[in-house]
Amino acid sequence: MGRPQDEEMGQKETDAKSDEQISVTCPECGAKVKLAVKDAEEKMTARCPKGHEIALVKAL
Ligand SMILES: [Zn+2]
Repeated sequence: MGRPQDEEMGQKETDAKSDEQISVTCPECGAKVKLAVKDAEEKMTARCPKGHEIALVKAL
């Protein structure tokens, strides 16, 4: 008894996932590149500051 109302469920969980970032290392020059997970999943590539393209494996 005394079961609380599920008011808490009404609170929107923050979309932490949406601006979650991953960092990948460029295989060409070893530069660390940070990008949003969202972008990574969308494009499946990242670009390092020197312009190398980094292929991302879909294993995030
Ligand atoms: Zn590079």
